[in-house]
Order: sequence, then C-alpha cells, then structure tokens
Amino acid sequence: MIPVRTARRAAALGTTVFTELTELAQRTGAINLGQGFPDTDGPRAVIDRAREALVTGANQYPPLAGTPALRSAVARQRLRRYGLSYDPADEVVVTTGATEAVTAAVLALCDPGDEIIVFDPCYDAYQASADLAGAVCRRVPLRRGVDRFGLDPADLERAVSPRTRLVLLNTPHNPTGKVFTRDELEAVAGLCRRHDLVAVTDEVYEYLTYDGTRHLSLASLPGMRERTLSVSSAGKTFSLTGWKVGWACGPAALVAAVRSVKQYLTFAGGAPLQDAVAHALDREEAWVERLCGQLQDKRDLLTTGLRRAGIEVIRAEGGYFLQADVSGTGAADAADFCRTLPLRRNVVAIPTSAFSTAGESCRHLVRFAFCKERGLLEKAAQSIAAPPMPSPPHWELI
Ligand SMILES: *Cc1c(COP(=O)(O)O)cnc(C)c1O
Repeated sequence: MIPVRTARRAAALGTTVFTELTELAQRTGAINLGQGFPDTDGPRAVIDRAREALVTGANQYPPLAGTPALRSAVARQRLRRYGLSYDPADEVVVTTGATEAVTAAVLALCDPGDEIIVFDPCYDAYQASADLAGAVCRRVPLRRGVDRFGLDPADLERAVSPRTRLVLLNTPHNPTGKVFTRDELEAVAGLCRRHDLVAVTDEVYEYLTYDGTRHLSLASLPGMRERTLSVSSAGKTFSLTGWKVGWACGPAALVAAVRSVKQYLTFAGGAPLQDAVAHALDREEAWVERLCGQLQDKRDLLTTGLRRAGIEVIRAEGGYFLQADVSGTGAADAADFCRTLPLRRNVVAIPTSAFSTAGESCRHLVRFAFCKERGLLEKAAQSIAAPPMPSPPHWELI
C-alpha cells in the first residue's frame, strides 16, 4: 500500500477500541456487549411508513432543516413532555443522528482555543468534535459514590475559565448509566447563567429511565431555554439506530448556527425516514414505554448475573449500559479484563477508560451493554460466572 499522509486532525482521531473489539467479536463469535445497539427492530407501523414513503417517491432531497412534518412532531413532543415550546420554522433542525447535531453545534459555536465543559467519562464523539473544532475539553469528573455516579458542584466551578463557551451534558448518561438529578441539573444551570455559557444537551436516552427515575431536560430549568440546544434522536428511543435521524431544538440563533454548518456537512438526509419518525413521535410512546420496561428487566438480568460472578455492579438509572467493577476478578485492570474476555468467556465488553482521561478512577470499570436479547444476556452472564479457565490467551489491542 502507498503510504498516505493524513492531516494531523485525522491522525489524532485514529481507530477506536470499539472498532477493534467489534472486529474481535466477529472473529471469535463472542457475544457483543460492547457496542450499544438493540438486536430487535423498532415499531412495525413506523417501518411500514418508511417503506411506503420509499415506494411513493419521497426519494429526493428533503429541506435542509428537515421535513415540516418531522419538525412539527419534534416541537409537539418537546411541548408534551417538557412543557417547552419551539417554533418548527426556525427553532428545530433535523440532523443525521444526534452525532451530527452535536458535531455541528461544536463546530458552529467554538473557535480554536475555546473550551467545552464535558463530564468524565463521556461519549467519545464529544472529544472528537472538539478536536475537529480545535477546541479544548475541560473534563468534570463524575465521581463514583456508593451506588451511583455523583457530581460535585465545586468540580464544575473549577472547570470554568474565560475561554469556556459550552457545557456539553449527556443525560441519561453513556457510559455510566447515570441520570442527572434535579439538584445536579440546577448546579449546571446555575453555572451557565453565572458565566453566560451555552448548554448543548445530548438526550438520546430521554425515554429510557428505570425504577421510576424521570429524565429532566436542562432547557426546562429557569433561564435555560434561551441558552440551551437540546439534542435527541430516533435511534435509541425507537430501536432504529441505523436510521440516523436526529434533531436539535433551541432558540433561533443557536439553531441557525447549527443549520449553517450542517448544510455543508450533509445538507440533508433520510428523506423517506423523516415522516416515519414524525409518526413515531406522535403515535408510538406506548411502544417506547414497553421497551423501557423490557430494558429495565434486561438490566436486572445482567446485573444479577455479573454479581453472581463476584463482580460489583453500579446500578444503571437509564440508558443502554451498566458499569461493572472488575477489581475482584484478578485482572490487572479493566483493559486487561476486556482483552481476555472474548476468549475466556466468549463475551465482548468495553473498558470505561476508553471514555475517560481520568486514569485511576476508571481503571477497574467495564461498560456492558444490556440492550440485547434476554437469551444472549443470560448466556453471557452464565459464561462469566463459570469457574475460571487456565491461562487465558491474550489479544493485543491497539
Ligand atoms: C448512541 C449515542 C449517540 C448517537 O446517536 P445517533 O442518533 O445515532 O447519532 C449520541 N450520544 C450518545 C450519548 C449515545 O449513546
């Protein structure tokens, strides 16, 4: 192969541990609890709508901002669920998944050298979008308490500087399973108001909370609607992760900034899918509620299985993932545990250090996805709890 000289910005992004572990799962046939996607389809009626749209000719460019039907459905959903009203004309934009909304927001709002407050550990796309913009992530630790990850307001305050532009908040949270409480969100809102910061909220798991916990949207707190861009997507809510239909809502000036960048990233996408997602938002909340109950059961199934294997589990309050502490298993650290897991136990999971720069506090934490069929979760848990095997082979990662 001819050596290719890539730009520094591309080289810095590199290949992630996800790609590597997914390949390892495919090679070894191991159960993949690494990547977060469900193995069952979304609502039938929604898929039928999309098929109908394909054959009736919704196959040309949709508007840059998204189809009017989807923008209106998003506005109705925000009003119904959070009491927040947005004008579909200029306060909503449809994006290629939540990922594009976040990346376009960071590119639109940050100059090189500007700072973004993120929470550590965090979804890996945040650091990547900051890198593309030449911005700097200031990481506020989510501290592990007795049974959940907490937020210390003093840590938050320490992260602010004159260059801070954004707070990028994800709740329910990947990879910890944390759902930010009202008090924690008040602390974030107070910080934004005091320092005149914009908040970008990644709420892709907005419907997926357990044990009666409720998701609160930061924009619904006093003084926050006018400075918050709220991002979500159909992927996690309707088990349609491959559709990549997302959106962002906020004051017109923020949405205009996102639209201006988005027009040169993708311009638009997913024409036949957009009105199907509109239908899903309007009509499928009962389906999502059932999904949520099933996910809670699956979380319990995997939690019980891992605990039976002597692994400590921190209860997931929402989302697709739970955190397990493998320090009692004899593995040197979580990375070591995950490297040998496919061959020892036929299971793939991700070391939480892949989402963190914090070092020690994540060293023994492993992220397991529980958005998989019950049979697979049972098999994975049984395999992990089985008696140890002699001298596991090592797989070299990275
Ligand atoms: C899965 C995930 C996304 C990706 O959403 P898309 O709509 O597929 O782009 C974004 N943020 C978090 C926290 C996620 O877990």
